Amino acid sequence: MKRLMFVVLCLFLSGFMGCGEQPEEVVVDPVDFAIAIHGGAGTIDREMDPELEKAYRKALEDALRFGHGLLEQGATSLDVVEQVVRRLEDDELFNAGKGAVFTHEGRNELDAAIMDGATRGCGSVTGVTTVKNPITLARAVMEASPHVFFTGAGAEVFAEKMGLEKVEPEYFFNQRRWDSLQKVLEREADRESDTEKHGTVGCVALDRNGHLAAATSTGGMTNKRFGRVGDVPVIGAGTYADDATAAISCTGHGEQFIRNTVASRVSAIMEYQGATLAEAAQRVIGDVLQPGDGGLIAVGWDGAIALQFNTEGMYRGAADSSGRFEVAIWD
Ligand code: ASP
Repeated sequence: MKRLMFVVLCLFLSGFMGCGEQPEEVVVDPVDFAIAIHGGAGTIDREMDPELEKAYRKALEDALRFGHGLLEQGATSLDVVEQVVRRLEDDELFNAGKGAVFTHEGRNELDAAIMDGATRGCGSVTGVTTVKNPITLARAVMEASPHVFFTGAGAEVFAEKMGLEKVEPEYFFNQRRWDSLQKVLEREADRESDTEKHGTVGCVALDRNGHLAAATSTGGMTNKRFGRVGDVPVIGAGTYADDATAAISCTGHGEQFIRNTVASRVSAIMEYQGATLAEAAQRVIGDVLQPGDGGLIAVGWDGAIALQFNTEGMYRGAADSSGRFEVAIWD
């Protein structure tokens, strides 16, 4: 059906181009649904312990298969991105929810955002310390409040009102993340300031009704300070979705993604310059950002998928209704 509509659209557009002028061949193969996930970008050691690498690949595959299955059954993209991100938040491997990194003071402060491409409805939370699944809180902000962005204590009160699952802050303790903070603090003794990043999670999806959604969740950056907020909960920086263009979820050095409004820039390049998703993603990650800044996953209105990064690696996966199913870490 979608394919037929696409052909009709091409014929319709070609009618506007005048006799003799042939429209450029557009090589697009629309799919019924598509999904992409990420588990963070950065300097991912290629000599990673094989058991750990196996665990990462399995976690990505399981999350991707789960989201693909939901889409196949006709779930909305909004439900899918929330459910997939919840699952990744519950996995200690990733820097979100249970596996969140520590702040300079040794706390876990979580950020999350969700956006519905059909309505441009969105919800964000930042600095949350006792909500088990911040992505669900972000969705509640979008659907059950007149606002779009809640911070710290207020966000926690709202979570309680919404009856969301709360946990003691100790729930987020993770030895691996704690050791990372200690290492960074040691290095910091020699330098002015040091932060590290890794493992933010995100999901973008196109559902069978042609609707897009994006969701991102993170613990931020190891050793972050003073109420620092990264790009993830900033709509247009780390998270964005618009049915007319694409759904985008970013990961990397948050400050750079905020300065360059990365997620909405990809959408704007498509909207105003008529670029494909691949071109827009390449331009933003390759030309606007600096090498090492991070990456993004995106699904376009036609089901095209972009997995673009300028770091050594990005935990990622992509699947669609045509049978595509892949998971990767490095190039
Ligand atoms: N972008 C996240 C932040 O700056 C970190 C990450 O993606 O690794 O908070």
